[in-house]
Amino acid sequence: MNDDLISRSRALAIMRNQWTLHGAMNAVANMPSVDAVEVVRCKDCKHLQRDTIFGVSYCGGKRVTGDWYCADGERRADDGS
Ligand SMILES: [Zn+2]
Repeated sequence: MNDDLISRSRALAIMRNQWTLHGAMNAVANMPSVDAVEVVRCKDCKHLQRDTIFGVSYCGGKRVTGDWYCADGERRADDGS
């Protein structure tokens, strides 16, 4: 399966002109993808280190806040590893 990202607004605009399931599936399959990647927020990254004494967090050696993200982020497993 192709996991390219597509624009929701563009998809809705294209789908308005499709009247059959086959036409809709073809329209989605041929829809151009957007230039984007999914990110891992630092709060979910396995590289995050919390300094409980000072109440700050570091990820990849940089001080980060809750919704920050890094280019090299890797999702932490549910067990914290
Ligand atoms: Zn990070």
